[in-house]
Amino acid sequence: MGWIGQDGGVSETVVPPIRLYDTRRREVVDFQPLVEGQVGIYTCGPTVYGPQHLGNMRSQLLPDLLRRVLVAAGYRVTFVTNITDVGHLTDDADAGDDKVESAAQREGRSVEEIIAHWTNQWATDRRRLGCLEPDVVPRATEHIAEQIAMIATLEARGHTYVIDDGVYFDVSTFPRYAEFAHLNLDDLVATGRVENVTDKRHPADFALWKLSPAGTRRLQEWDSPWGRGFPGWHIECSAMSVKHLGERFDIHTGGIDHVRVHHTNEVAQTECALDVHPWVSVWMHNEFLDIGGEKISKSKGHVVVVDTLVEAGISPLAFRYFFLQAHYRQQQAFTVELVRSADTALRRLIHHAVVARDEAAGTDPDPQRTASLRGAFWEAMADDLNTPRALAVVSSVVREPGLSAADRWSLYADFDRALGFGLADASDPEAADVVGLDEIPAEMADLLARRDEARRARDFVTADALRDQLAEAGFEIVDTPDGSSLRRSQ
Ligand code: AMP
Ligand code: ZN
Repeated sequence: MGWIGQDGGVSETVVPPIRLYDTRRREVVDFQPLVEGQVGIYTCGPTVYGPQHLGNMRSQLLPDLLRRVLVAAGYRVTFVTNITDVGHLTDDADAGDDKVESAAQREGRSVEEIIAHWTNQWATDRRRLGCLEPDVVPRATEHIAEQIAMIATLEARGHTYVIDDGVYFDVSTFPRYAEFAHLNLDDLVATGRVENVTDKRHPADFALWKLSPAGTRRLQEWDSPWGRGFPGWHIECSAMSVKHLGERFDIHTGGIDHVRVHHTNEVAQTECALDVHPWVSVWMHNEFLDIGGEKISKSKGHVVVVDTLVEAGISPLAFRYFFLQAHYRQQQAFTVELVRSADTALRRLIHHAVVARDEAAGTDPDPQRTASLRGAFWEAMADDLNTPRALAVVSSVVREPGLSAADRWSLYADFDRALGFGLADASDPEAADVVGLDEIPAEMADLLARRDEARRARDFVTADALRDQLAEAGFEIVDTPDGSSLRRSQ
């Protein structure tokens, strides 16, 4: 395979062939798209019953980085990440209550309110972390028909059975079941990996459709060929990814905790329903962000979220820089102070980039002088997204002898296509009279999101009213090709 590259002549980016670690094959593989020049990526999105903590957001930063690198390499990327608004039980196996329904009952709010609130918060936090908008954000509750159709196909092919509380997938009908996660099925009972729905034939069998108990009504339930109820969590991701990316697609990502249950079950049911193998070419999993055990748990109320950083006076984009400082397959220990150091490093980077940008005005870079740093950066990114190595190259730009301001700016601008810091529109955080793009309060980010939505719907009256509201609060909108952002008015 030759080198892929170019980005419409804006720069001479040449990205080497991309190599990625595939969880299924347990090795780094040469990435080969199913359709030349195109890539489909699916990422398990949030269960919208509470805040997504910074660990959860690491699982959005990974596909955002991957997507940016693939685009820089010349691929057309379709990125899909879902909203789980039903079906994820409080126990990750098949027992317990639906998380969204429990939250609604606990807080005395409607499920619609809970879903809208936490979906919006997640979308706002993604933007604050510099993530590009997904191409499709499918909701599980809007894909019930597709899920029922897939379960019906599994039933027709003999992969299911029905017991009192639902329709189950029979893992004994899929001999490859244990392969994906290298499971030892005999150990499952002992390790407590699966819950005790007592009538299941095998402890690893999992719910495809949960039936509402006779005589009760749930807040979210639908008719199905098996009776009223709601879908299992795993079938959602299978149905939505296949609907939006096709029966086979290129890359599926998620947090490492999903390998043993959620993704194992997604593979089993999809390969059985569609008779495909391998269903997904490359599986990528981010390691955990370690916020210190107890503290990260949503149920304990000590959730570390994007606003936690803002309240500590740290730019959300600093968390993006912090994310890049570790390889995605390494566990990363989180402390506010570590992210504060990342903030300092990011401010310095933005300062150097803005100085180079302003000094470069009207002059041309020399591609020969920048070739080796440019090559080193993209080599690192193409090597299973080796971001620590790529960041070391970024830091070396300012020290590299013999580069003009135009050379330096051409490198920063090129690298930023993967880094995602919005350098082209950034103001110098070290200049006394300018306040940067950081520390945007959640309400302002929310107004901005609503203004963007209004603009997309061509409702310019609402868009202008929201812009005025932001202006009154002291924020100015900065529109960029990557989306809009805010800066404090001067
Ligand atoms: P959930 O909303 O619980 O379904 O989780 C959304 C995503 O966050 C999933 O891909 C999880 O694997 C991932 N995730 C959960 N906790 C962490 C963590 N501490 N670090 C990184 N990713 C996580
Ligand atoms: Zn999923």
